[in-house]
Formats: sequence, C-alpha cells, structure tokens
Amino acid sequence: MDKINLKQFEVWFITGSQHLYGEETLKQVAVNAQKIVEHFNESGKIALEVVWKHTVKTPEEIKDVLQAANTSKKCVGVITWMHTFSPAKMWINGLKHLQKPLLHLHTQANRDIPWSSIDMDFMNLNQAAHGDREFGYICTRLNLPRKVVVGYWQNAEVQQKINIWSRVAAAWADSQNMKIARIGDNMREVAVTEGNKVSAQIQFGYSVNGYGVGDVVKYINSVSDKEVNTLLQEYNDIYTVMANTPEAEKSIYEAAKQEIGFRAFLEDGGFTAFTTTFENLHGLHQLPGLAVQRLMADGYGFGAEGDWKTAALLRTMKVMAVGLPGGVSFMEDYTYHLEPGRERVLGAHMLEVCSSIASVKPTLEVHSLGIGGKADPARLVFNVSPGPALNASMIDLGDHFRLIVNEVETVEADAKLPNLPVARTVWIPKPDFVIGAKRWIESGGAHHTVYSQALSAEFLVDFATIAEIELIPIK
Ligand code: MN
Repeated sequence: MDKINLKQFEVWFITGSQHLYGEETLKQVAVNAQKIVEHFNESGKIALEVVWKHTVKTPEEIKDVLQAANTSKKCVGVITWMHTFSPAKMWINGLKHLQKPLLHLHTQANRDIPWSSIDMDFMNLNQAAHGDREFGYICTRLNLPRKVVVGYWQNAEVQQKINIWSRVAAAWADSQNMKIARIGDNMREVAVTEGNKVSAQIQFGYSVNGYGVGDVVKYINSVSDKEVNTLLQEYNDIYTVMANTPEAEKSIYEAAKQEIGFRAFLEDGGFTAFTTTFENLHGLHQLPGLAVQRLMADGYGFGAEGDWKTAALLRTMKVMAVGLPGGVSFMEDYTYHLEPGRERVLGAHMLEVCSSIASVKPTLEVHSLGIGGKADPARLVFNVSPGPALNASMIDLGDHFRLIVNEVETVEADAKLPNLPVARTVWIPKPDFVIGAKRWIESGGAHHTVYSQALSAEFLVDFATIAEIELIPIK
C-alpha cells in the first residue's frame, strides 16, 4: 500500500458574485480570493492543496464548476465564499447536484472597517456579511450538509477548521474506494460487530467482502527465509526484542512471516482495511498480533473478531490523521478501576493495538494466549502517553448508522504493569466516568472503538455531517 499522501487531494475555492457591480469590482474580487488561497497554501496550516477557481457570476458558471468538482478525481471538496452578493437562486441547480463535501467559508477580504474613510465602494466590495447569508439560506433550503466556518481568513482557528474539514474530505474520498477484506467471518454470537454491508456501502462507499483464512495462509507459506530475516533485522532495530527461548524465537519468526504474507495478500487485493477472527485460524501458526499491529501503524484499518465497521472507521481516521502527532488505533474498553472518585478504564485488546500510539519504544514479546488454541503469539507491548484522546464507535441500528464519540483524558497507570503482556492505555471518560459510560451504553456504543490522540471530536463531527449519519457526542 502506498503511503497516504494528502497533497494528492485538492479542495476547490469558489467565490460567488454577480455581474451587477461591473468589471473593476469583479477584478478585485478575483484578486482578493487568489490572495486568500495563496495564503492558505503558504501558511502550511491546511494539509490539502487549495485550488482557486474563477469567480462565478451566473447559474451556468456555477453549475459548470460544481459539475467539474463532481467529476474531478483530485477534488475532494468545495469551499464557497460570497465576496459580494450572489443571488442564491443562481446556485440551486449547481448545488442540487453537488456530490462533494461542502464548506461554506464566511469571511471578509478586509479585516477592519476603515472607519474614517469608508465609502460605498468599500461597502459594495465587502458584502459577505449579507452575501453569505443569502447563500446560507439556499443551503438550508436545499437541506445541504455542510460545514460553516466563520471568521477572518488569516485567523489560525479559521484555518484549523478548514484543515480539519479538508482532512475529513480526503478521508471521505478514500472511503468511497475502500476495499475491506473480512478474513474469516464474525466472532460467533457477537451482535455489535455484525451489520448490513450493503447499507454500509450505500452510506460510506466502501465494500466489504469475505475471504477464507486459507487465502492468506497461501501467501504466508510462500514467504522466503530471506524476506523473514530482513524483517527480523528491522524488528531488532526498532523494538526491544525479548525472546529468551527457542519457542519464543520461533514465534517471532512465524509472526514476521505472517506480516509479510498478510501485507502481500492485502496489496494484491487492493485492500486498505481488514478483519481477522480468533475463531478462524486454520493454517496459521498463531493469532496474528504483531502483524496486525504493524499493518495498522502503516495505515491499514483493522477490526478484530470480524468487526468490519471498526476496520473501516479506523482506516478513515488514519487518513484524517496523516502527519499529525499522536496515533490512531483499534481499541477495546477492557477492564475498570472503580475506586470512588478515581474511576478509570483500562483499554487494550488481546494483542491488536497499533504501535502509532506508543509513548516509548515498544518491547516485542511472546506470551501464551488462552484463546484461539494456537502457538504463543508475538506482540508489541507498550504504554500510551497521558493527554486528551477520544474513542469513536460506529454502530448499525438496522435503519441507520450511528457514530458515538467520547472525549477522554488519557492518564498514567497507577503502577508499572509488569504482568500485563499487551499494549494498553488508561483513560477517564468525559465529562466523568459515570456519565460517560452511562451515555455510551445508552447510545448502544460498541466495546470496540477507534482510539486516537491525533484527532479532536471536530474531525468526527465533520465526518458525520459529510456521511449524513447520526452523531452522539459525549464530552
Ligand atoms: Mn474484541
């Protein structure tokens, strides 16, 4: 899989106006819009390329540019701004057919009113205050999902909001083509990891298809010793490898083979997300732990126990988070500390936590696993740094999808955890443990989540808006 490159995506900047004001004003409108776009691209604060488009002044021009946005492979979203008044009936035909995410930027070229010199020329040129209201009305009238960002275009907060939306728009584009390999089926009898794959494809674009574990085993069995030894060298370079017995060494060797085999299987099929299940491991030496951890760190979405919804959400959040500090991982609310007033959650999984959230150099260890009936699996063990984070869960309620997002505060464990041989993180849900957990459960949130220290809740608000799904924020 190629590394995710956000610069391959564009968002188009479209300025609305009309012919009423004459050529001079329109010239100035174009100059100002280009200045804003240049500033966005030079500030380095917006991850995607912002592309200036000619000022639109007629229904035909509006329809043309929005249709071009629909069919452009690079364009993942459209930013609109009404520098002057742009009568919004002109926008109806274009907006009605717009298929790309929309951000309405409500700003003004001039920051300050020139109080002592203001005249009607200034008033005619700087009309966003009412022009954008006319545009907002028609968006609401058309029931168009969009993000409205308000403020002076040089403000850091304004650019950050545009940046977040742009990243989400890129993730949305990625989701339209995402292929998810469901290796094995669901963990038997589990409810929340099930769902309607056809509904999901209609809603999110991605496709989920099943494969037998043997399809992957074929790849693993054809891996050469040479390939494995090269990878083992990499493990030695970047992890503290703890293998004191021949069996442990053998487990790490087999885990490396799995990683190479899984990677080849995923690349050949064009998959960017996958699931496994410990109830279907025929032909595998061990439950894939290390391989999954490392594939996640490279940007693959993953869900354990057949959980394809979480795999998809993880991949989507990986795209949003490219290049940001903090990681994104598969996670599970595992066990509680219920000391009154100091309640917290220990999050982990049997093995599959992404090393992108590791606070220190992980140790590579081999331990027995009571589940799955296979050889002792290799896994990376590490802690996660304290700080703000969130958990996100996508559930299928039969007639619609719901995204539940709980902001949490990650904290240090009360002691070192020498006997806990898995990657783990400890957090306190917001607004507090009782309310956070209660709302989560009342909302039907899953035990599997995507945990991230790279993304704020605003990313997921934007995602829910674009995907047109229900959002339950818990904060
Ligand atoms: Mn699980």
